[in-house]
Amino acid sequence: MAEKLKGAKIIFVVGGPGSGKGTQCEKIVAKYGYTHLSTGDLLRAEVSSGSERGKKLTAIMERGELVPLETVLDMLKDAMVAHSDKAKGFLIDGYPREVRQGEEFEKKIGPPTLLLYIDAAEETMIKRLLKRGETSGRSDDNEETIRNRLGTYYSATKPVIGFYEKRGIVRKINSEGTPDGVFGEVCKALEAIH
Ligand code: ADP
Repeated sequence: MAEKLKGAKIIFVVGGPGSGKGTQCEKIVAKYGYTHLSTGDLLRAEVSSGSERGKKLTAIMERGELVPLETVLDMLKDAMVAHSDKAKGFLIDGYPREVRQGEEFEKKIGPPTLLLYIDAAEETMIKRLLKRGETSGRSDDNEETIRNRLGTYYSATKPVIGFYEKRGIVRKINSEGTPDGVFGEVCKALEAIH
């Protein structure tokens, strides 16, 4: 385990594509000052760097599949270590996306304090993603990839919730409301550990 990360407060933010993870994370950072790390953003930064590794990632992401665990975890750990001095705690957005990612994270970094489960109905997520696709410029915000991302979410990521529920650290947030309304719920969950 990375020495510098010992004892760090770690919050996993898990939810489907379009559930509003990113929106809520922005609000959490503004109010609580946690360090926000999104695996999707880290991967997109690698893609836009034009590296060989980035090219392989593009293809996987455009299919809506998960990139190899080792790649994501290395990237995430490096980013955490780089921020460890000033971090009050970490908001990890988009990870774990399968149970094994959670297990490996704990071996290499440590256990999460809390898991925020951002929950919205499938129809809501599809509607939001198609709307975002009009302006996001993200090559995975098209109908076919959205369907695949949702499939990956329900088969691989949903079991992550059950895995951490057994430990009693999951707080489920209904994400159907307005961003501010949802944030009210998020705050209640965070006050418990703040
Ligand atoms: P969304 O949650 O809206 O699908 P993200 O930006 O979180 O968007 O992720 C975009 C893509 O990046 C995913 O479809 C996947 O291919 C890849 N990705 C992100 N996080 C992970 C992860 N933890 N493990 C594997 N692949 C990931």
